[in-house]
Formats: sequence, C-alpha cells, structure tokens
Amino acid sequence: MSDLHPKRLLGKVVVVTGAARGQGAAEAEALTREGARVIATDVEAADGCRRLDVTSDKDWAALAAELKEAYGQVHGLVNNAGITWRARLGDVRPEDLDRVHAVNVTGPLLGIQHLAPLMPPGSAIVNIGSSAALTAHYPVAYTTSKWALRGLSKTAALELGPRGIRVNTVHPGYIDTEMTASAAPAFREANIRETPLGRTGIVDEITPLVVFLLSDDSSFITGTEIPVDGGLTAHGGVKSISDALLTEGGR
Ligand code: NDP
Repeated sequence: MSDLHPKRLLGKVVVVTGAARGQGAAEAEALTREGARVIATDVEAADGCRRLDVTSDKDWAALAAELKEAYGQVHGLVNNAGITWRARLGDVRPEDLDRVHAVNVTGPLLGIQHLAPLMPPGSAIVNIGSSAALTAHYPVAYTTSKWALRGLSKTAALELGPRGIRVNTVHPGYIDTEMTASAAPAFREANIRETPLGRTGIVDEITPLVVFLLSDDSSFITGTEIPVDGGLTAHGGVKSISDALLTEGGR
C-alpha cells in the first residue's frame, strides 16, 4: 500500500483473537497495514501471537491489565477465534455443545466484558459470525453457537452504544482456511453449488470489511450484520430450484 494512502486505524490499539492462522492472521496483518497497534492472540503462543485462550476469564483479565498498563486504552476488538464440530442433531453430545459454545460465545462475551471498560468513545468491536448464524447449517453445536453470538452482538450494541462503542458482526460464507479444509470434499463442492458467485472465498475478502467496521468510516454503523458469502445466504435456499430449471432450459 502506498504511503500516500491515509492509514485508517493509525493510533488505535486493536486485539484480534485466533490470529495464529486463517482469517485471524489475515485480519491482524490488514489492521497493522492500516496503522493499528495490533495485539494478535491465539490459544497457544505462536510467531507474533500472544497466548490467550478466549474461554479463560483469567487470560482475559491478564491481557486487560497488561493493555491498561501499556496503552491505557483499547480501541478495537475482533472476536475471531472459533471452532467447529460437525456432529449432527442425533449424535451431538451436550459436552460437544458446551465446548463449542465456550469458544464461540463465552469467548466473545469475556472479551467484551474485559476490554469494553478500556474503550473510549469511537471504539468498535467486530464479532466473526458465520453463514451458519443465518441458516439451518447441519453441524448443530456450531450453528447454535453462531446464532447465540448474533444475540450477544445485538445486546452488546445496545448496551455499549451510549458509551460510543459500536458492535457489528461479519458472517463469512465458505472461506478457504484450515477449518474448512478439515471437512469432506463434498462440503466444499456443495457450498460452491449453492453460492451464486460460484466459488469459495479467501481470507482477504473478509479483511476489508473488518478494517472498515473498526475504522471511523463506519462511525454510525452498529448492531448490524453483514454476510460476506458470495450470495450464499441471500437466495434463501432457492438456488437449486433455479439451477434445476435452467439445466432443463425451462422457466
Ligand atoms: P481456523 O480454524 O483456520 O482458525 C481459528 C483459530 O482460532 C486457530 O488459530 C485456532 O487455534 C484458534 N482458536 C481455537 N480455539 C481457541 C481458543 N480457545 N482461544 C483462542 N484461539 C482459539 O478458522 P478460520 O480462520 O476459518 O475461522 C475464523 C472465524 O471465522 C471463526 O470464528 C469461524 O467460526 C468463522 N468462520 C469461518 C468460516 C470458514 O469458511 N473458514 C465460515 C464462517 C465463519 P488452534 O489451531 O490451536 O485450534
């Protein structure tokens, strides 16, 4: 990026969770390019990543104390860390549900609880949801957790709005990362069939929106949710009907 391009996050301290790989790593890089002082975190310490298990109240308390000491304020939080578990309705066990919800829902809740007190007006939180949060995606523990995260985002936007803190949600569709690589090939193929743009997405198609939602360019946007999914959730499940008639040349 040219130095003439104004850096949109200059001077902002931003925490990203699950930043060792995948979307989190790309978000941390993009935010850094925009001038943010990024604190990249992940469940294990890694290259450029501080250790933070999002399910641990103690880890969040330690991070908040450290950031207060070092910077006094935090201006952004990306609740990106997430896990999936592809058991179906008949097979999923309560402990699976608890484990997935601990990372995907309790994690963001703890992050907001610990970091919002350090946030001045103009700060922003971005929660990474999923197209599963808008649909009946079959992995029930994952889908219920992402629907719950939507609720958390809305409540947080309501509670934190009066303090000038914005909370928005990004819903990725199928993005090529290690998470999706762990599914059977049929999962990728079916996603491509259901996606009007006819392909999967890449991490750098998520990052521009995350940068925008953390920047002052989105200063009047809060409580909203934006799918970045190639149109997957926009057609409401009718793509296969349209496609079936097209292949028969019918209307
Ligand atoms: P990845 O699995 O590639 O990366 C997730 C990162 O989160 C990993 O580094 C993982 O660490 C880390 N993590 C797992 N558990 C914890 C924890 N307890 N505390 C801190 N970090 C943790 O996933 P993606 O990059 O694909 O996903 C990022 C987000 O986007 C997730 O919230 C996911 O649900 C969401 N999403 C992804 C989609 C996709 O198609 N890829 C689609 C829709 C939503 P480790 O490797 O050690 O487990």
